[in-house]
Amino acid sequence: MTIIDGKQTAEEYKALLKQEVNVLVAIGKRPPGLAILLIGNNGASETYVANKLKTCHDVGFNASLFRFENTVSESEILNCINELNFNSSIDGVIVQSPFPNHISPQKINEAIHPAKDVDGFHPMNAGRLQQNKPCYIAATPKGIMQLIEKYKIETQGKHCVVVGRSNIVGMPMSILLSRNSKPGNCTVTICHSKTVDLASYTKRADILIAAIGSPELITAAMVKEGAVVIDVGITRVADQATKSGYKLKGDIKYDEVANKCSFITPVPGGVGPMTIIGLLQNTLLAAKNAIYN
Ligand code: NDP
Repeated sequence: MTIIDGKQTAEEYKALLKQEVNVLVAIGKRPPGLAILLIGNNGASETYVANKLKTCHDVGFNASLFRFENTVSESEILNCINELNFNSSIDGVIVQSPFPNHISPQKINEAIHPAKDVDGFHPMNAGRLQQNKPCYIAATPKGIMQLIEKYKIETQGKHCVVVGRSNIVGMPMSILLSRNSKPGNCTVTICHSKTVDLASYTKRADILIAAIGSPELITAAMVKEGAVVIDVGITRVADQATKSGYKLKGDIKYDEVANKCSFITPVPGGVGPMTIIGLLQNTLLAAKNAIYN
């Protein structure tokens, strides 16, 4: 069994991003600019945003954080996005989820200009992805595709089961792996909360991707011998034995599944670091599009 090391892979991609920023700066261009909007003080969101800001800093991007109270109105957020859409030093705009209930994720996603939508959540980018046209690919599936490539995992003709159908992970993942490309050419089954007898599907997966948000839902009995297992889920589970009071858990029961599969991503240190790389790659692409077009 091989552990897919997302942390190490992300370091390699970070070095490449840094080189590209150095080239831009050497020819007199500005570094890529990313604006991150953060609403409220959700602990997990704070951590994700801090990691994104740090990685931006490490590779030489300009990153700006826009903080809002939980009580901020939807129109204030939309106004901020609108200003950033017109700000020529900003290439990418993202709003960290989850949002308070009074703010519509759909309105937010659609307010970001598709050319600055480096999370790839705007319907324009999602539609272009589905039609195999150039677009910003949602960061998590983009990162997973790069892990599959890096570890030379054969996908053609394989049966891939994606558990979860969200617009940000499950759905784009299923599109990428079913495309006529390399990696790709899988036969994909999508499962969700209304799937009856989930195990009967997961047990037939050559490649199993879990993007559920339900800690350790997938047990060894649900996984085929020798399968490739990608765990997207990250949930904070209370654990008084740790300093923070919680532990991060994936959707896969790692200890038992690891003994059975051919490849597995750990949580943390698997998909998470590559999600940030996907985001920064999209931002670099947006910067190049802005600079050269
Ligand atoms: P969503 O809540 O948007 O989607 C979860 C999906 O899982 C839904 O499609 C839901 O089905 C399905 N689901 C829920 N319960 C079950 C079940 N018992 N059996 C089968 N399917 C089920 O979550 P996201 O896609 O945003 O995120 C999923 C997980 O991945 C979360 O833990 C999140 O924190 C993590 N994540 C990690 C990232 C990383 O970088 N590692 C990045 C993004 C997310 P239905 O559609 O029917 O409701």
